[in-house]
Amino acid sequence: MGKIIALTNQKGGVGKTTTSVNLSACLAYLGKKVLLVDVDPQGNATSGVGIDKGEVDQCIYDILVDDVDIRPLIKETTVENLHAIPATISLAGAEIELVSTISREVRLKKSLQEIKPIYDYIIIDCPPSLGLLTINALTASDTLIIPVQCEYYALEGLSQLLSTVRLVQKHLNHHLLIDGVLLTMLDARTNLGIQVIEEVKKYFQDKVYKTIIPRNVRLSEAPSHGVPVILYDPKSKGADVYLDLAKEVIKNG
Ligand code: ADP
Ligand code: MG
Repeated sequence: MGKIIALTNQKGGVGKTTTSVNLSACLAYLGKKVLLVDVDPQGNATSGVGIDKGEVDQCIYDILVDDVDIRPLIKETTVENLHAIPATISLAGAEIELVSTISREVRLKKSLQEIKPIYDYIIIDCPPSLGLLTINALTASDTLIIPVQCEYYALEGLSQLLSTVRLVQKHLNHHLLIDGVLLTMLDARTNLGIQVIEEVKKYFQDKVYKTIIPRNVRLSEAPSHGVPVILYDPKSKGADVYLDLAKEVIKNG
């Protein structure tokens, strides 16, 4: 039975999509059967695994708003063992259209439950907001990974995220757990990064992943080639650390 993990943080640019794509690919590389679900209207995870958004006729929007069967939406990617459900810009309208829909918060969960037995891991890339798309992702998930950028104000906004998580736990998904906080984009040349790591560890204690993602230019180049870093440059630091993260995720069960 698959484990459903959402990458979430309403702040943009903290590494949600980069982690969704590369964690998914590394889990697949390690022999797991993985599904990447793109719930961000920007569709960057979709193109990051080599799916041309222009060629997609139905996407996650159709599951959420029109309640279509999830199976035909599953696509092959550039990575063996990795499937994906794409997002396109049409998803931007879902947030509003869902407001008047019955069981609007549980639509994704209902669909993913049908295919959960086929996969070892289902990874959800969330949009940078706490609206209905993210609520659907949190409701559908077993655990959360919260990427936090090693920058000033790293913890800013996290209390809002944590209170949303508590609301979802109380009303929609009692089983939801925070797997961990993932420190991203560490610039090893500055002291700031070290300070942020200490601050985050003080706050989240043993909920912080041992693996810390450094800044690595290969990670920002790979998406324009439609492949995860493990295919783009397997010897890079970026490939190395995301493999470490995948192993840590597997070890955590
Ligand atoms: P989010 O999904 O949270 O908005 P992204 O994963 O899209 O964040 O990352 C924001 C930008 O930073 C992207 O251009 C991405 O390529 C780049 N990026 C993310 N992680 C790294 C990293 N570890 N090293 C270098 N660039 C990164
Ligand atoms: Mg993103």
